[in-house]
Amino acid sequence: MKFNKNSYSKNLPVITLFFLFFTFSFCDGYIPKDEDERETIERFRGKKITLGLNNRSFYEKRSKYNNKSINDVFIELFNGYLGLDVSVKRDSFSTLLNKSEDDEVDIISFITEHEKRRGSLLFSSSVYSDAVYVVSSGKKIYSMEDLQGEKIYVASRDIYRKFLERVLFNSNIQSEIIEVDNLDRYKDELILTGNPLIFNPVSGVKISNSSKSAIGIRNELKDLLPIINNALESRYRDLLNHQISLIKKEIALENFYSSLTEEEASYLKDLKYININYNKELESDLYYRSKLDGDIKGIVPDIVEIIGRTLGVKVNELNYGYSEEGTKEESVDVYILSKTMERSKYLTFTDTIYNIPVYSVMLKNTDHDNCIVGAVKGSVESEIVETYYIYDNVKIYSTYDSLVDALNSGEVTEVLSKNTNLLSEKTYDISLFEKMPVSLAFKIEDELLRSIVDKGISKLILLEGVINNSIIEKSNEDLYILSEKNYKKRNVRIYSIGLILLLLVSFIKIMSDRRYRLKLLKDPLSQLPNRVVFNEFCTNKSKSSEGYAVIIDFDNFKEINDNYGHEVGDKIIAEFSEYLRKNFDAKFIFRISGDEFYGVIDRGLQEIVDIFGNYDSFCSLMKKHGISFSMGIYRKLLDSCIKDDFKYADMAMFEAKKISGFSYKIADEEFITGKKREEQILEILNGEVREVYPVFQPKVDLDTNEVVGAEALARCSSDTLGMIYPLEFIGLAEKYNIIHKIDYKIARESIRFIRERLDNNEIKGEFRLSINISVKTFKRSDLVEVISEYLEEYQVSGEYIEIEITESVLMSDMKDIIYKLNKLIELGIQISLDDFTAGHSAAGLLPILPLSIVKFDKSLLDLFNKSEKKGKIVYLNLISLIKDLNLKIVAEGIESIKELEFLKDSGVDYGQGYLLGRPETYKDRKILEIGTV
Ligand code: C2E
Ligand code: CA
Ligand code: CA
Repeated sequence: MKFNKNSYSKNLPVITLFFLFFTFSFCDGYIPKDEDERETIERFRGKKITLGLNNRSFYEKRSKYNNKSINDVFIELFNGYLGLDVSVKRDSFSTLLNKSEDDEVDIISFITEHEKRRGSLLFSSSVYSDAVYVVSSGKKIYSMEDLQGEKIYVASRDIYRKFLERVLFNSNIQSEIIEVDNLDRYKDELILTGNPLIFNPVSGVKISNSSKSAIGIRNELKDLLPIINNALESRYRDLLNHQISLIKKEIALENFYSSLTEEEASYLKDLKYININYNKELESDLYYRSKLDGDIKGIVPDIVEIIGRTLGVKVNELNYGYSEEGTKEESVDVYILSKTMERSKYLTFTDTIYNIPVYSVMLKNTDHDNCIVGAVKGSVESEIVETYYIYDNVKIYSTYDSLVDALNSGEVTEVLSKNTNLLSEKTYDISLFEKMPVSLAFKIEDELLRSIVDKGISKLILLEGVINNSIIEKSNEDLYILSEKNYKKRNVRIYSIGLILLLLVSFIKIMSDRRYRLKLLKDPLSQLPNRVVFNEFCTNKSKSSEGYAVIIDFDNFKEINDNYGHEVGDKIIAEFSEYLRKNFDAKFIFRISGDEFYGVIDRGLQEIVDIFGNYDSFCSLMKKHGISFSMGIYRKLLDSCIKDDFKYADMAMFEAKKISGFSYKIADEEFITGKKREEQILEILNGEVREVYPVFQPKVDLDTNEVVGAEALARCSSDTLGMIYPLEFIGLAEKYNIIHKIDYKIARESIRFIRERLDNNEIKGEFRLSINISVKTFKRSDLVEVISEYLEEYQVSGEYIEIEITESVLMSDMKDIIYKLNKLIELGIQISLDDFTAGHSAAGLLPILPLSIVKFDKSLLDLFNKSEKKGKIVYLNLISLIKDLNLKIVAEGIESIKELEFLKDSGVDYGQGYLLGRPETYKDRKILEIGTV
């Protein structure tokens, strides 16, 4: 790929997007796209249309900001923008739904899209989507487990009921679900809702993401649907979402104010500013100093800013640092701290705003038997230490620096710390020890302020959203800085990418929907960049670096979700992601799908393998549930194509999957050559398999030394690859479910071969040609039909044919297999069991399957060669077992006279092997003429 100097042209689409965005926002009235649309609109403009609006106060409430309700925006859309003649019907949602079924309502403003409703209604593209919650105004629920044994009230005909049932089922929770007409009456109990705000709950749990809400229209109006979708697209989806978020905010604010006591309300009224102090030590997890503008940014500043804004008070940021004595600092009102028993004596805490990890740090290769643990005096870590360790193992230090010194000098062997910035992973083993909740802390005498802020946080602030947003902002900044740095290296291409990035960032900024931003860049569960970023990364080759392309895929992860529920699955992913973030540069680790991660890792191969191999010492949940992953690794070069790099890594990953448990495969040169060959073979197999043909290996009667049959063995000969043996292509064909093409081709050629020999009078006595049929072919419904068709086509009796099956039939539906075998036997065909060995379960199959012949695997002869005595015992026992069942025996792989003599003496009926005849084409040697070998 050559670089296009005119890099601005790359930005053109983005700029155009901007223009479109703004133009559409400011034009009035819907402009039909073409003549057809114009006609459709005209047609409907002449009709009376009834618009059903939900009369819940949430939809009717007018915003103080623009004096509009959500319903007003709907009316505006249909009446004003589309210019339709709509009459409005306001009612409860369920009544509207009934009325739409009775043709009294044509359009329902806001309805959850659902398969069941599709018969009677059509849905617009989505208008809005949110989550579903179980909430309560009277009871406290914090986790799914709190729903155990409870009654949960659900609005009648609520689509989300199914969501709830599924989630409860998956989490092994038994609750009683009760359908009621009016949820408001039950809001002190537990209720299911997609819009918790309107119930002003005190607590709740999120059940799942909701499906999409859309505009529902009756089938008769279907021509209007594309027009409604266009209207949503160009303008009204944004307007509706904007209105919904306005109303939500206002309701939240009202809920907040009404939750304040009189005393709190008047305190808040007089409150002018709050002084907040940041603890420097926590930097990076909770906040950071921006490299772009030097401001302090991140989760804490964002939360603080929002608190200040929503409470209407000024927030001053102080930076005293923190020591336990620091609490005496008069001017500080709020600290960001973890709650400890010690601190609770003079501080009062809000609920948790964030959890930060505490790590256990050890010098590499320390002996942990006699561990001495260190922590900083008065810190949360020291409190954790006291709960986990025996007291005389603990040493407390007054400063962080002295603690690190003690670790390095061996005075302590383990250190608990939330700050690992100064510690290099090369020297230390760092692993997560515990998560530590962080809160806002106030002086005891400021309890009133704490209570107000706590209420503010619980009523007004979507903590999860703020946190995710802050994380995205940081990663944007990192990305920007990264491209900026490279720019200094005079790489022109970066400039355009930086520009695109900047444009992207500012484009995102004007999108008010935060969830959209979230989706765009970072996956909230893993906090790793997602597939979108990865694709971006692939196209921006500038960021390409040397290193290893690594693909990680969990083994049997679906089972975890199925057996333990998605919550556990999510926790496992979160834990593993954290492990990735901690050990590698998180900018280059991408979560591609549910349980699949891609990474570009600039470390040594052995180091990478070591880190990954050690995953279960960090990921306790994975260890607990016995979850492993498979990994594919490919060495990428600076200029390589990233898509290709990952293609090879992916192939290697699939190879690794074949081994159970944690495993990895490195796509080295040999592997890739092999894979390329495999691809070429697959290409042949996917075609008409003209290149596939049979060779025949004679089968000899050991009593008479006469050829009494042959086995047809497949070969594949290609112009580019030369001769390909079954070892290479049979497995591949089975894997891709195309083995029947080979089996049928060989069967047909074999039958045609018999016909030709018969025509030439070359078959005089007994003769059977055996064909290998894979179990996969056996599972096909057309097997018997195809074989009898070929026999018919060439007018060959089934008595010339033998079909070889292997013990892998054990793995399938035996009833079906036996049915088909009997059908083949009806045609005169005989069945033999191939690859019979000593130690296998195959012996159990003998009485079950309708067999005539058993073929002894070459490995039995190998046994005989290794130990004549043992081999003879095994052979003779097996022979007597099989003779008792009245079956004939063929010994395969005879290579020496000694073997032949032994088999003859043992009473084996037939033999096959290089000694008696190699597999060859008929033309090469007339091996199949009846005669003596
Ligand atoms: P198999 O059915 O056990 O076939 C016998 C294999 O042993 C053949 O290998 C044959 O060439 C080899 N062989 C014969 N005599 C000797 C000997 O004295 N010493 C040694 N070392 N080997 C001997 P081939 O042709 O490479 O086939 C390998 C396997 O591929 C077959 O094992 C069979 O499982 C499969 N296969 C071959 N053709 C077909 C086919 O048309 N359909 C299906 N489904 N599988 C096939
Ligand atoms: Ca065979
Ligand atoms: Ca065999």
